[in-house]
Amino acid sequence: MPPTVSRRTLALAGLAVPLIELAGTGDGPLLTVIAGVHGCEYASIAAVRRWVRGAGRRELRGRVRVVPVLNITAFAARSPFVVPEDGKNLNRCFPGRPDGTLADRLAYDAFRLLIAGSDAVIDAHCGDLVEALYPFTLYDAGPAEDRARELAVAYGLPYALRQEPGPQRAVAGSTSAAAAEAGIPAIIAEAGGCGLVEEAAVRLHVAGLNGVLRLLGMADDDAGVAGRPDPEFLDRSLWLRSSLEGWWEPSVRPGDRVAAGQSLGTIGTLDGAETLETITAPATGVIMFLTSSPAVASDGLLLGLGIAGS
Ligand SMILES: [Zn+2]
Repeated sequence: MPPTVSRRTLALAGLAVPLIELAGTGDGPLLTVIAGVHGCEYASIAAVRRWVRGAGRRELRGRVRVVPVLNITAFAARSPFVVPEDGKNLNRCFPGRPDGTLADRLAYDAFRLLIAGSDAVIDAHCGDLVEALYPFTLYDAGPAEDRARELAVAYGLPYALRQEPGPQRAVAGSTSAAAAEAGIPAIIAEAGGCGLVEEAAVRLHVAGLNGVLRLLGMADDDAGVAGRPDPEFLDRSLWLRSSLEGWWEPSVRPGDRVAAGQSLGTIGTLDGAETLETITAPATGVIMFLTSSPAVASDGLLLGLGIAGS
């Protein structure tokens, strides 16, 4: 028998956020799937919408909670990276605060009502409107790390990046970091980008979520995801920024392996006459994501480099 499917809205920080709940016919874990923490990451939102329709027709044990778009005001406003009301990146605000601005309160309510109490949390992302990326998962050090790593493997993307707390962590205040601190296994899964609903990226996320169902023992059929290769594990990432504003012209693509000292691109003047800055790789690694827009501000984010070994 397929699960009981209910669709309603959940009040989070005073916003009506769409929620889909699947109640399986047998006992099992509670899996929470979130997308749209960034409101313009359409491939991951599309994938979660598609996946939950399919999951609703399968035999399931346990319960699934799905929020296809958490940051709904960013979605409505087509606001990349931030909650438009306060300009904060929601994925730097977890576990949130009840007395802060909208992003803090949304993170607080989402943590309390969705992440807390879950046996596993998947937060599906992709590159934002002006970001191209190579598919990877991200998991955090902490008491639930072994299970989080298993979730990353089950999701089946080519790279899995581990993050440790402290200044080395590129992403603090994320869903997965806050979950890790609370002992809840969680991953951030990244595939797709540039404001596109690319079918290949959507399929990677759908297969990833099916891999998670299988890992958690929530479905008997494997939906064709058994036997995928393990990801390559990365131990840290470096985010490179421009020192000057100008025209960004990368010479590498997401997924490229680069050597320490290799040129990764340039910042030039808008008139095209001069190169202001050449960006070089500070270490050997793989390009996880890069800013696809040529327009960069001073101290603007250019790319993320994933590195194996510490
Ligand atoms: Zn994102």
